[in-house]
Amino acid sequence: MVNKKLALLGATGSIGSSTLEVATEQQIPITLASAHRDYPKLLEAAIKHKIPCVVLTGISEPSLQVRLRRENPQLRIYFGESELLKALQEEDYDIALNAITGSAGLRSTFAILNRGKTLALANKESLVMAGHLVREYTSDSPIIPVDSEHSAIFQAIGAHPASEIRKLHITASGGAFRELPLQDFNKITPAEALKHPNWSMGAKVTLDSATMFNKALEVIEAHWLFGLPYSQIEAVIHPQSVIHSLVEFIDGSFLAQMSVPDMKLPILYALSWPSRVPSALVKTSLLELPVLSFQAIESQRYPLFYLGLEAAKTGGIHPTVMNAAVEAASSLFLKGLIPFTDISGIVRKALDWQTPLTFPDLDTIIEVNLRVFQKVISQSL
Ligand code: MG
Repeated sequence: MVNKKLALLGATGSIGSSTLEVATEQQIPITLASAHRDYPKLLEAAIKHKIPCVVLTGISEPSLQVRLRRENPQLRIYFGESELLKALQEEDYDIALNAITGSAGLRSTFAILNRGKTLALANKESLVMAGHLVREYTSDSPIIPVDSEHSAIFQAIGAHPASEIRKLHITASGGAFRELPLQDFNKITPAEALKHPNWSMGAKVTLDSATMFNKALEVIEAHWLFGLPYSQIEAVIHPQSVIHSLVEFIDGSFLAQMSVPDMKLPILYALSWPSRVPSALVKTSLLELPVLSFQAIESQRYPLFYLGLEAAKTGGIHPTVMNAAVEAASSLFLKGLIPFTDISGIVRKALDWQTPLTFPDLDTIIEVNLRVFQKVISQSL
């Protein structure tokens, strides 16, 4: 049993649903939950988990707001991002799990850190876009990774200092198209890109794993979480997704963390840390595991991975530009407006629009993110 009060942001998405399962098993009290617009699912969770306060950040219609409040008098219901930020300042919780998708999760991360609360972070973009700002908080507010790869590294590092690490090896499933012949990439449909071979996840992250852009984001995440230079962080394809990442120490030893792929395990660890608690949610049988293998990431198959690494190394505002361009190009592809193979070209072009900024503040990051997103969308329509 985990004895902490939880604030769960992004409660209706894939990570949110898995977190609710973990909360049920571990009897974790949830004091605050948020979602974008999926009010039926959020209200159902609020009733089932006895959550006293919920925020719907994407509902702005006054008539709907009035109706939801009237129909749920036992709940405190708030609307809009500013109300969520206020709730994060005022409500009672010990740990907040930020599972908001994309750049929309950025301000919440800082609201949690500003209050000095423990942050279980599933929102990659907070570190990708604003890692340099997040780093300034890590001494007083612990950040526990929820992403499976970073949870694996976090577990394997234990108390070892960065000076004892030679390399971090982040594993990648290879996504939906790891075996598709390269000449067939221009025929990929949105439905095909949204089928992940190993993990069941939200649309954004599933498409990002098909392009391997996700792995570039995770390299940036690892850089900020563990304080290591990019030269010490590598990614490798591991199609079975059993080893969730590895740490190579300076003496030549590797420590890896493994289990069948299921997000409930890294979520549980983020919530129970620094302890481990008994759980029956994820069970791995060694004799039933497939043969484990590793292979290099081909640059022709995954151009967005290498483009992402370049933007990471340039740093400053570049990861934000790249991320916004990928979000926009991905949404164009998912709507059937551009072919899959156009995504990387659009992103490469967008990276040339922005002059370098080495230490952008939060408002600049959010402004550039929106501007690049809208420019990509309008130029392609
Ligand atoms: Mg991951």
